[in-house]
Amino acid sequence: MTTTVYILMGSNLGDREKNLAMAAEKIEAVPGLEVIALSGVYVSPAQDMEGENPSFLNQVVKTDYQYLSSELLNALELIEKKIGRTGKGKKEPRPIDLDILLFGEEIIENDTLSVPHRELLNRPFAMVPLLEIDPDIEHPVTKRPVAEFLSEEGRQEIVLYKDYVARNV
Ligand code: ADP
Ligand code: MG
Repeated sequence: MTTTVYILMGSNLGDREKNLAMAAEKIEAVPGLEVIALSGVYVSPAQDMEGENPSFLNQVVKTDYQYLSSELLNALELIEKKIGRTGKGKKEPRPIDLDILLFGEEIIENDTLSVPHRELLNRPFAMVPLLEIDPDIEHPVTKRPVAEFLSEEGRQEIVLYKDYVARNV
């Protein structure tokens, strides 16, 4: 039995594209996990952070996973450390942040995990890449399509990074 799991990768420090690529490679190597799809890479300004911060690159990975959500979280935290993340829970630039957006239909609330991710429906930078992969996906708590929570304004804030680079050369 496998579970369809969506992981949001984010980077706003160092070589952001390389950090995402390295994280995707390491996610692919997690035991019991198979990568099904990768979204494009999107760019958006850093939100809720102190002072001036580099913009974020974000990308969603869709996977099939065989084991428990707690085991996946451990594996993701190890990858964050390997890519050079030090502090946790701090609103400061980070080379990589790996968040579980959805773990099948499961609703998880404990000390270390809140799934569906608590901020998913408030964050266009998470919804846009998720919806690129699965435009009709439903939110297991609200039982509504995720797309209903993404405003046109929100959608436009999130720019495909390739387009962004092309526009700013
Ligand atoms: P954030 O992602 O909010 O910027 P961190 O990456 O530092 O913050 O994560 C802080 C804690 O959030 C982690 O130690 C982890 O236990 C917890 N957490 C709760 N829900 C999730 C989730 N869905 N995915 C990843 N981490 C989560
Ligand atoms: Mg995180």
